[in-house]
Amino acid sequence: MSVTGADHNADLIVVNGRVLTMDADNPAAEAIAVKDGAIIAIGSRASIEGYKGTATRIVDAGGGSVIPGFIEAHMHLFSGAAELAHLQLSGVHGFEVLQAAIRDYASAWPDAKMLVAQGVDYTVLGDERVTRHHLDAILPDRPFVMAAPDHHTMWANTKALELAGILHGRTLGPGNEIVMGEDGLAAGELREGEAFGPVLDLAGEGRVRLGLATGGEPDPTPTAAERAADRDIMRRGLAWCARHGITSIHNMDGNLYQLELLAEIEAEEGLPCRAQIPFHYKNFMTLDMLDKASVMAERYNGEWLSSGMVKVFYDGVLDSWTAVMVEPYADRPDWMGEPLFTPPQFAELAVAVDKRGLQMAVHSIGDGAVRAVLDGYEAAAKANGKRDSRHRVEHIEVITDDDVPRFEKLGVVASMQPPHPPGAMDFPLEPTVSRIGQARWPLSYAWRTLKNAGARVVFASDWPVASIDPILGIQAAAVLRKPWASTDPDQRFSLHEAIAGYTVEGAYAEFMENRKGRLKPGYLADLVVLSADIEATAPEDLHKVRPVTTVCGGKVTYQV
Ligand SMILES: [Zn+2]
Repeated sequence: MSVTGADHNADLIVVNGRVLTMDADNPAAEAIAVKDGAIIAIGSRASIEGYKGTATRIVDAGGGSVIPGFIEAHMHLFSGAAELAHLQLSGVHGFEVLQAAIRDYASAWPDAKMLVAQGVDYTVLGDERVTRHHLDAILPDRPFVMAAPDHHTMWANTKALELAGILHGRTLGPGNEIVMGEDGLAAGELREGEAFGPVLDLAGEGRVRLGLATGGEPDPTPTAAERAADRDIMRRGLAWCARHGITSIHNMDGNLYQLELLAEIEAEEGLPCRAQIPFHYKNFMTLDMLDKASVMAERYNGEWLSSGMVKVFYDGVLDSWTAVMVEPYADRPDWMGEPLFTPPQFAELAVAVDKRGLQMAVHSIGDGAVRAVLDGYEAAAKANGKRDSRHRVEHIEVITDDDVPRFEKLGVVASMQPPHPPGAMDFPLEPTVSRIGQARWPLSYAWRTLKNAGARVVFASDWPVASIDPILGIQAAAVLRKPWASTDPDQRFSLHEAIAGYTVEGAYAEFMENRKGRLKPGYLADLVVLSADIEATAPEDLHKVRPVTTVCGGKVTYQV
């Protein structure tokens, strides 16, 4: 077919690529033509060059892979972007190294009201648990707080605890704890948001953390200058996504304010990345507050900015024993964790959300949480009738045998994070594997087991919990996820399955499988050109493959 005339000219064509379409009908090609934000043709170089006009932008892929833009299905844009400015302590071990890093950072920021660090391993001091006294020895006279990579535990020095007014403890909601020392004062370890929220407020991070703490709105209303500063934080986060080849994000915290900031950027210059922002429902809210989720869904339902989801936390994390287990923790035989909702309360919430036609995504790390959340989804289907709801369970770090087949049966999406299994990427084996206990290892971070049982498995980083880089996630899912005991099943995915977890499955999770996640005529022109042929790259070298050009909606959003 020969194509002539300006009407047929593409806005952009990608040539000289190893196009991996993720479309079973047409798996491979050399080139792609894009017009008006959508893919108009995929095929051989010769066939696509027919769409070249004088104004067509040419992207030469240089023989590298061209794949659908990554869909990052669980992340925290606003707080992640703000945290790019924090002290990064990932990989730091031992008191001396910790001390040097904190003191260097403190002297670089002499005027900071509160010094904040992140990425601190639970085992930063080996077997010794971090207390305020360790941190006082490093920094006695300025307030300092540091966060574990999972953002569920923080450690503060005495100055920070004092200023936040929690040195003498405070009564908190279930699942939250200010760990107290034998001297009757706070020990420094703060478990979950209600415990460390007062400290972070002092850091001036109230607005960026608001969608995480609740789905509420900033009070007082931000000034024009504050709004502009917040838009800049969002821009920084979106640019971070684009440089990692990401073209769509499913944010996992949210309120109306976040949607407004993104809508303002969309109106000003266009978004470099599509975003879905949920309403964050907390256990202290009442069901009528779901009205706001419905308003958000109605107001924001475009291809760039959307809502339509309710995010909920059912439990905490394994490392602080706040995840909810069916059987006690292996290293704490009298404790199974404490849920943030009772099972009947949660089921009532699931029925109410589902009735509104909204999607639900629930943080459930322990097998007890996974079970209660699946029970809630089952109750919703029973009460409201079964529909294509695609409710999601987030994390699923441990699951019981009985619950594995329920994902397929209930049509529930399994949202998992390849960088999270201890030993796969940044997280050390301990203390997590001892908390879980060997009996539960075969069904921990079990994406292969779930997929084999028919579950739709979608991948993400949970940034800033782990690096946002999807290629590192692909390598973790396909290569680095090793069994902890020789008797554990191999949970790895093939390279193709791992890429699908970051593309096809993400599109499915947001009901967009007919518009994105694959490279196909008529689909959105969201794609990423990689520095090498990813299929020909040795598994151990996958992390060296880098995004060189990201295209979202037909526009180049990142180029090396
Ligand atoms: Zn998260």
